[in-house]
Order: sequence, then C-alpha cells, then structure tokens
Amino acid sequence: MKKIYFTPGPSELYFTVEDHIKTALKKGVPSISHRSSQFKSIYSETVEGIRQLLNLPENYYIGFTSSANEVWERILQNLVVNKSTHLVNGAFSNKFYEFATLMGKDATKIEADYGQCIDPKTVSLDPDTELLAITHNETSSGANQTLDDIKSLREMYPDQLLALDVVSSAPSYPIDYSMVDTAYFSVQKCFGLPAGLGVWIYNDRCLEKNSQIQKTNSTGTYHRLSHLHEMGLKNQNPETPNVLGIYLLGEVVKDMLRKGQETIWRETQYKSSLLYHNLENHSLFTPFVKKKEWRSNTTLVFECKNPSEVIEKLSEKNMIIGKGYGKYADSQIRIANFPTHSKEQVELLVDILLSLN
Ligand SMILES: *Cc1c(COP(=O)(O)O)cnc(C)c1O
Repeated sequence: MKKIYFTPGPSELYFTVEDHIKTALKKGVPSISHRSSQFKSIYSETVEGIRQLLNLPENYYIGFTSSANEVWERILQNLVVNKSTHLVNGAFSNKFYEFATLMGKDATKIEADYGQCIDPKTVSLDPDTELLAITHNETSSGANQTLDDIKSLREMYPDQLLALDVVSSAPSYPIDYSMVDTAYFSVQKCFGLPAGLGVWIYNDRCLEKNSQIQKTNSTGTYHRLSHLHEMGLKNQNPETPNVLGIYLLGEVVKDMLRKGQETIWRETQYKSSLLYHNLENHSLFTPFVKKKEWRSNTTLVFECKNPSEVIEKLSEKNMIIGKGYGKYADSQIRIANFPTHSKEQVELLVDILLSLN
C-alpha cells in the first residue's frame, strides 16, 4: 500500500502531480531552453495562475528563486540597508533573524515563547527600522499569527516594509497580500510539489526601495531584485531555473483554481477542526498551542508522551507524520493538513490516532 505523508514538508505530493510529471516528460519540459517561447509561456501561465489563486493586487510581482531560505537572504540584500526587526516565535522566524545578523545588519528580534505569537500591542519599532519580518505560520511550533494581527501591524507601521513568510500557509488561508509589501513560499509545503523552488512576491514599494539601495550598495548578483524583476517581465529568470518545478507549480495552481480558493480554505478549516477536536479529547494528546486563535490549521502540533511509538504505529498503517521540531522531537508530533490531504485521509488518520492507547 502507498504511504501517505502528513509530514510538514516535504509532504504528500498534490494528488495530480504524478500525472503532471508524466505529461512534462512526454512534452520534454526538462529539456526545453529557458529562453524559448515554450518556456516563456509556461512561465507566464504559472505567474498568472499564482496571481489569481492568491488574489495578488496589480502592483505586486512574482520572482522564482530556489527556496524560502534564498528569499530571506535576497530580502536582506535588496530591501534593507541597516535595520530589520523580526517577530520571532520558533525556528523559522529565528533563522531569518540569524541571517540578518550574519549579513551584518543591525537586526532586532521581538520574541514570543515557543507555541505563542507576538501580541501587536507589545510591538514598538525603532523608528529607523526599514523592514519588519513576520511569520504567518511557524511550522516548527504550530503557532499561527492571526491575519487580524498582521493587519494591525500594517496600520501601526505604514512606512516600514512588511515581509510575510507564508511558506506553510499559502494558499490554505485567505491572506490579503495588500497588508504586506513582500511575501514568499516554497512549493514543498501546502502546494504539494517536489522541493527546489521558491516564490518571491514583492510590490512596487520594494522595487523603489531596491533602486534607492542600489545607488550606494551591492544588492547581489543574478538574483538582485531589479534584475530578477526585469527578466520576469520577459517571462524568464536570469539563470537556468527549475523549469520542471515552474511547470508543475503552474499545473497544480490551475488544479487548485478549478477546485476554488474558498473550497481550499473551507476544507483546511474543516480537517483542522476534526483533528484538534478529536485529539484534544484523547488522553494521549494535548494541542501544544494553548490559545485557540493561534493554533495552526496547516501544521498541527501535539504534545504526547511517546512520539516515536505513535509515529511507528502510524507508519505500520502507511501513514507518515512528523516528529516535533528540533529539541521537541521526543515530546511532540506534527501533522500537516495541506490541500492534498483529503477529508477521507484525515478521517482515517484520526481513527487510527484515537485507537492508540
Ligand atoms: C519550510 C519553511 C521555510 C524554509 O523553506 P525552504 O524551502 O527550506 O527554504 C521557511 N519558513 C517556514 C515557515 C517554513 O515552514
């Protein structure tokens, strides 16, 4: 029997990906030139699809990178001269902060305890902060900053650039991207694709800031924002990109558009409630995030006594879930609830979890 991956990334492939890979091989997609008209139309279809699926405003653009890690570095190189501030509540948000210090920026972190989020009311930015980095969904702890919080931060700080990590939340949440100036994701989480492609969303304020910075500073080489943008307008990347990845993303986005954004949001919510509700009432499991409005609908984290035993028992039934992140490996499990995971699969997972004792 085929395994089902509920791991928080890489995860189960979107259920149409296998067919799209076969078609891509038949069409020779991995061999076409990245300067050909065939590639340019793949590029533009993928970009247009993402714009539609995420409801991106007109003055927002998309660039392809290799990963979200790359986007962290590009944001710091291209949009920050000195000072960035980071809301940190887990491993991923902290990594972005660390990158800023490694790159010699004057970086500040505002930190919440693991499993919590930062209350916007406690945020007070230094006036010379150029960019505020927010993580919508902290995949390591399963804490999810509410969209209302992000909106409040936008209202509090209209002058700063706001960067939003949506790696494990797009397209599963109804995010209004006009709240932020830049956002990014990798494709191996909610999009259910093989890893190796990052998507960087940025608006005209980012382009403006970048052109100011370029007058006095280096902003990098092949993926400096101005160049990535200029090539993007020609439906190309500066380098030979992950052509297969861009093609597959375009196809999955079309499938998701056919399904409908609202259906994806609703099903995410439904499956998440099913998991929290059932496991909360089971003696073995406790949701790690205590405050309900901070509980992630896409990467659910539960405390339990013997995670490796739970993981092992599920694996015997071909269901693969994640262990806790880093030092929480021995006290937590993590369960991904991505668009590819069907209601039936989640119900089956719940049944098996409930049968454990
Ligand atoms: C996985 C993840 C990343 C890193 O993605 P890469 O593709 O490994 O660069 C960043 N942020 C969050 C919230 C993630 O879950």
